[in-house]
Amino acid sequence: MTEIAFAPDVFTWPSDEPRLIGGRCPSCAAVTFPLKPSCPRCGTPELDRHLLARRGTLWTWTTQDFLPKEPYASGETFETFRPYGVGLVQLGDEVRVEARLTESDPAVLQFGMEVELAIVPFRVDDDGTKVMTYAFQPVRAEGVQ
Ligand SMILES: [Zn+2]
Repeated sequence: MTEIAFAPDVFTWPSDEPRLIGGRCPSCAAVTFPLKPSCPRCGTPELDRHLLARRGTLWTWTTQDFLPKEPYASGETFETFRPYGVGLVQLGDEVRVEARLTESDPAVLQFGMEVELAIVPFRVDDDGTKVMTYAFQPVRAEGVQ
């Protein structure tokens, strides 16, 4: 089965250790995600390509309990939609990234918990192609299943 990324240049993939691709300003060192055409802080054009940390902490989160409006394009219908978590993840001291979470159970999600980047299926096209997107998953404590 073919797997493709939902958009180019958003994350490194295929990879055992995927990273989000952000931008770093050569003038003021501001870090952005995604990579932007110019620095949002000082206006410098052409940011450097900068790979973000794989792990971060969950700054805040919510759950998406209903099917988002177009152009969400997951291929889900109101009948098949499954709620998912959405989080704001602090990556190092560089940047906060809004992303899907692999977990949507409020009993599991905790403010400040450690999360790690994962590449997950977003939808399956009619020809069987799996379209992949990025999400953050809780980091399990060592030795705990
Ligand atoms: Zn700048």
